[in-house]
Amino acid sequence: MEQIAAANSEPLPFRDNAWLAGRLTEIRAVHFADVRNGYPIDIRFGTRARYRFGSISARNGRTLILINALFSDPAVPVAVIDATIGHEMAHYTHGYGSGLPRLYAEPHRGGVVEKELARRGLAQVEHVSEEWRKANWEAFYESRCQDIETRKSARTDIAADQWSGILLKPGARTEEELRIQLHKTLKRIGARAGEPVFEVAWLHATPRQAGLSYWYHREKVLRLHGLLADRRIPDFVVEFELAYWAIRLRTSSSWEVIQRAMVAAGMGALASNALAWRRKSWTAFKKRNHPLR
Ligand SMILES: [Zn+2]
Repeated sequence: MEQIAAANSEPLPFRDNAWLAGRLTEIRAVHFADVRNGYPIDIRFGTRARYRFGSISARNGRTLILINALFSDPAVPVAVIDATIGHEMAHYTHGYGSGLPRLYAEPHRGGVVEKELARRGLAQVEHVSEEWRKANWEAFYESRCQDIETRKSARTDIAADQWSGILLKPGARTEEELRIQLHKTLKRIGARAGEPVFEVAWLHATPRQAGLSYWYHREKVLRLHGLLADRRIPDFVVEFELAYWAIRLRTSSSWEVIQRAMVAAGMGALASNALAWRRKSWTAFKKRNHPLR
């Protein structure tokens, strides 16, 4: 009886890697038929992720496209997967992960991916996918990935606890001081009032985070390594980090440009002192004083 029922009903598409390869074949044939063959493409479901929907990379003469494992769930519309495959295929076309000639210096700048998708008749799929994501992704992710989030917040709590010994120690540099210093720096480099707009906060750095500061684009927060709250680290090191990002975020990421702007603002010596300190002392300081070891 069961067999008859199964044969008569439309089988639900079961989304495994073979199914994914089928989607890729169809999308290539319909929308990318004119694109030269670069490396042969493997496509697979990767790990579950909140923000990363797909990726493309090349290894040993083959292309690997990874699709968010959460998209294997039938609750996610096929359009979301198709749009993600289309996105990665646009990168492939532009010479990213494909061995084909690079058409653009950067993969996303100037909306080149969106333009490619529109040109290839994938604007509608992209639109449907985007609408679904806006309306449902947050809740969908929460419902499927409680375990990840719970583990993450437990880790975060432990780190905050261990960092509090340094950050809440009497006499430590405060976030308030960072804000005041940032304000001064912005004036000094001639930024107009209110630009660039970003928050500054301490980073509960993991032992692997070796940098002195990190820019969190999504949250628009500059985080300085928590050890910089320790006053044994000279003020000029902190000032340099703030100046570096203040200039970088309003002008350019090129070190040459940043350096020139610093010299123009009378911070040339400060920059060389800070860089020298980092070269000579940072690694050892971090090793001795990191709270998470
Ligand atoms: Zn991309």
